[in-house]
Amino acid sequence: MGYTKNLMETWRLLDTGIRSGAENMALDELLLELKAQEKIPPTLRFLQFSNPTVLVGHHQSVEEEVRLDYCRMKGIEINRRLTGGGALYWGQRELGWEIYISKTDPRIPSRIEDLYRKMGEAAAAGLRHLGVRAHFRPRNDIEIQGRKISGTGGTELSGAILFQGTVLVDFDVDEMLRALRIPTEKLQDKEIESVKERVTCLKWELGRTPSPAQIKKSLLKGFGEAFGVTFSDLPLNSEEEGMLAAKRPFFSSDDYIFKVRESLPRRKTLTSILKAPGGLVRISIAMDAKTKVINQILITGDFFAYPKRAIFDLESLLKNSKAVPSDIERTIQSFFADQKPRIPGIKEGHLIQAIEEAVQKIDLLPHGFAEEETHHLFPVLKRFGEVKKPQVLLLPYCAKEIDCAYRSLQGCEECGRCSVGDAAQIARSFGMDSITIQNYEDLESTLQGLKRSGVQGFVGSCCEPFYGKHRPDFERIGLPGILVDVESSTCYDLGQEEKAFKGQFENQTHLNLSLLQRVLEYAHG
Ligand code: SF4
Ligand code: SF4
Repeated sequence: MGYTKNLMETWRLLDTGIRSGAENMALDELLLELKAQEKIPPTLRFLQFSNPTVLVGHHQSVEEEVRLDYCRMKGIEINRRLTGGGALYWGQRELGWEIYISKTDPRIPSRIEDLYRKMGEAAAAGLRHLGVRAHFRPRNDIEIQGRKISGTGGTELSGAILFQGTVLVDFDVDEMLRALRIPTEKLQDKEIESVKERVTCLKWELGRTPSPAQIKKSLLKGFGEAFGVTFSDLPLNSEEEGMLAAKRPFFSSDDYIFKVRESLPRRKTLTSILKAPGGLVRISIAMDAKTKVINQILITGDFFAYPKRAIFDLESLLKNSKAVPSDIERTIQSFFADQKPRIPGIKEGHLIQAIEEAVQKIDLLPHGFAEEETHHLFPVLKRFGEVKKPQVLLLPYCAKEIDCAYRSLQGCEECGRCSVGDAAQIARSFGMDSITIQNYEDLESTLQGLKRSGVQGFVGSCCEPFYGKHRPDFERIGLPGILVDVESSTCYDLGQEEKAFKGQFENQTHLNLSLLQRVLEYAHG
């Protein structure tokens, strides 16, 4: 035994304790650079945060993901990770682990999926030493009986890898929901009733909060067994501390936190949103309406890209190029062929589709739609201009007065108390029928019935999250149409999406009548 142990490689254990978000992010970069220069051995770092902290993924825009006013009011720190993925909320008890290692290390799988699995299984094995039934769940989570306790992800730099994960220890889900704009399009699992039921933490699982020392010991055991290594404590030396101090101001700056992925002004951009297997892709494009040249493009989302600069490179290639489908396709295809970026779960086709959907909105501008308004229009199956003479207007029950006798029934007396009656009148002026949709099943059977009866297209109204989530359902049913966003708080904003699914959402939304009217004029013009 002793002989075998002597052969075991020793990795550096670096416990950097409790630090600010900026310091922790600066340390990530420093250690990754040092590993890339082979100045440090393989290293496992543990980290904690001195304040509650929101960390957006590297490719995300802070404005899109974070409720800024709430975070400022509550003193929640905001920063940006080096790694991709979605925005995270960290309480002060949560624990992070990170591994810095060379890509060519024989213990490191070359396929990204295998790397995620190896790291995830090592961390899960570590958590099992604490007495919880943790398992790796592809693509990059660790779960306990279907509930997420840890997310993982990585990035790379010149042959070095940083792979990191969280462990939720005593998690405040309500605070997370208040601090983050949860990308509701991610709430795909119909069997899971709410965000709260999708996560767990050690305290809930064990009925007590284990100490940081216990958790670290268990994780070290898991990683030690998985990689066949031992660990030796080696704190930051004075040279490393000096380099960290030099990096700290940049990682505390707005230039890093906000401007690396700063939203383009909504007034002047065309946008689209696409849910791909690897995450949500958001496109914002500023383009010249006359020349159709892309002046600026921002590709954000909760995906991972290896190397992380791949997305910036693609944006640079698309900038100043012609916004026509053939050029966009050629640019993206040659970018993937030349640079071979790895973006798990996001294929070139997803990016082409998302960019083309944003670009096609330019065709709406000569018809009197402002850029800002096009954010509220969503195409179903066809380009906007190809949905000709739609015969029906579909309206959501949530726009009816809450105490209206028709709230859960088909029909409306057009009493003037809500926008549904006005919309019905507008539809009639175009010779269209209006139908209220009572719940998701009703939507599906209505669309199928309309298609069977020979209807060629529809215009409808629903909220953006509903479109994002059910877009594949609309496409599967196969009836082309245009959807117009509703106004005011949606059931997703209020965490009532499951109620809405069953037709029991208790709030009222409002139809954007002026936009609906103009969409109908456009489609019937
Ligand atoms: S306009 Fe129609 S849906 Fe709205 S309150 Fe009156 S009857 Fe009800
Ligand atoms: S998902 Fe909710 S807010 Fe959106 S259209 Fe349906 S009921 Fe209304």
